[in-house]
Amino acid sequence: MDLIWLKETACPVCGSKFQSENIRQNKLMQVTVDEDFHPHFEPLSPLYYSVVVCPDCYYAERRQNFEELKGKTLGAVKAGGGSLRQLGAGFNFRSIRNFALSIKSFELGALTAQIKSEPSDVIGGMFLRAAWTCRESGDESLENVYLRKTLEYYEKAYMNEATEFGQLGTCGFQYMMGEIYRRLGNLEKALELYMRSVANKEIRQKPQVERLAREQLAAVKAKVKP
Ligand SMILES: [Zn+2]
Repeated sequence: MDLIWLKETACPVCGSKFQSENIRQNKLMQVTVDEDFHPHFEPLSPLYYSVVVCPDCYYAERRQNFEELKGKTLGAVKAGGGSLRQLGAGFNFRSIRNFALSIKSFELGALTAQIKSEPSDVIGGMFLRAAWTCRESGDESLENVYLRKTLEYYEKAYMNEATEFGQLGTCGFQYMMGEIYRRLGNLEKALELYMRSVANKEIRQKPQVERLAREQLAAVKAKVKP
């Protein structure tokens, strides 16, 4: 069905040339979206291939940013190469991507983001992708491990950093954190964050977030106080 095509890719860190897997996105069909905005596609999941990893130095980045590394950030990744090699050791990124390689790609992506001093929500986003990959494979206990890691970085971003949180905005980020808490069974924290999201004035500009936040708030309220 040629949904995957191989692209000649050059590593900006070590100069290695390798082939990375690309997806023909227009041949995929989105079948559903989870409450935490995870889209499910058929017949295959593009998430698996969303982080490119250099098979030689283990530098890992989202596909669209992989070849863009320059200047000071490039220097930082070169200097931090030892920890990437240590984390990637034993994983062959020249072979066809499978579940284990996909999970490792997000861990390496999170470490690369840390080395690049990216905001905490970007680092957390790598762990969220790992959690979603586990969900797609039905591994709930590993999904929870990565959801907890996601929260650890999302909490850091939320408490300490002034950031716009991308397309989601602050209200969407509050909602997302509430949703992760709910999935991990902490309904009180989930309620608190859903309420903050709903009370946030900017939510009026984000109708999708508003609808979900109100739905989930009502559902969790009903569970907490039956
Ligand atoms: Zn490399």
